[in-house]
Amino acid sequence: MTGTDGRARLGEMATPHGPVQTPAFMPVGTQGAVKAMLPRDLIEVGAEIILANTYHLYLRPGDERIARHGGLHRFIGWDRPILTDSGGYQAFSLGERRTIDERGITFQSHLDGSEHLLTPEKATDIQANLGSDIAMVLDECLGYPATRDEAAASMERTLRWEARCRRRFLELRDEGGEPASRPGGDHGALPRRGPEGVGGQAQFGIVQGGTHIDIRVASAQATVELGFEAYAVGGLSVGEPPSLMYETIGETTPFLPEDRPRYLMGAGTPVDLVEAVALGVDLFDCVMPTRNARNGQLFTSDGRLNIKNARYSDDPGPADPRCGCYTCRNFSRAYLRHLFVAGEIAAATLNTLHNLTFYLDTMKRIREAISFSSLDQLKEDYRRVFSRRPVNS
Ligand SMILES: [Zn+2]
Repeated sequence: MTGTDGRARLGEMATPHGPVQTPAFMPVGTQGAVKAMLPRDLIEVGAEIILANTYHLYLRPGDERIARHGGLHRFIGWDRPILTDSGGYQAFSLGERRTIDERGITFQSHLDGSEHLLTPEKATDIQANLGSDIAMVLDECLGYPATRDEAAASMERTLRWEARCRRRFLELRDEGGEPASRPGGDHGALPRRGPEGVGGQAQFGIVQGGTHIDIRVASAQATVELGFEAYAVGGLSVGEPPSLMYETIGETTPFLPEDRPRYLMGAGTPVDLVEAVALGVDLFDCVMPTRNARNGQLFTSDGRLNIKNARYSDDPGPADPRCGCYTCRNFSRAYLRHLFVAGEIAAATLNTLHNLTFYLDTMKRIREAISFSSLDQLKEDYRRVFSRRPVNS
């Protein structure tokens, strides 16, 4: 940690593929690509780390194939840090196509209907094959709302799965540390030693417990007891009101080690980012900037803007006059609207470039605000701008 403002923290997270300035946002690259983006675009918008989805890559093209091709970084042409999720969330999302028991999650592939059993050990092995910088434990994702009993039982199962993940992770590390897939040269990226000093993959534990605070606290304490490189808060942003999400985060982070990154999984809106940082969160991922871009919704310094609206047909101005991204430097709202209405692929690319720039600029503004102890002001600004109705929609 290099600075604080209230409970917000400024820091640097070390990974085998270089450092990440925190608080940080991770664009989501579900199938080994951030939709509509090339790695060079991600570098241009300032992404220091991306997320990839284990479930999708395991089913297609397969983690063993990726390992044969030198690991995920080499396979996808991205030599900066990558975090992989455990695959659990996607498997859960399959609804009727999955069942859960103590062994793990049995699911039917959405691609060909084939049956698979994702155990904590297997989720750990797959991520070792992928060679991501940060691997996540397999957890049970509880929906909202959930009763106390449901939340407690689910949290206990997650703990048992986390212990199995950790055991498997340490076995792999002891067996020579590096899975067979570890890229040798790493594109010249300077290996940096993480807090554990092994220079390899880190594994994050996940706190669960729904919105029941005492169960969250018990989960946090027991997960920290298992001893991971860092910790995530999972199972939020699943339909609960934002105020309840913030309350749950605020009651959880005090039980996580101060010297390790804290990752809020799957959130959120620009306001969520600022609010959660103020509660001590350091790391985020969300499909919102990329997915909304493909639907024509842009995040701007004046709030949300729907580019498909007819009123932009003759608008010569940029999407956001205060944005310096490639899209805003070169193209008018009229052109962006035309591309969207015409169904051109470039619409997805230009809109995504802009939205990711807005999100990553937001993180930069957050980091600056922490260093100037002005995060409260930034929080008020974001609340005000984004409480408005979407601009002209
Ligand atoms: Zn822009």
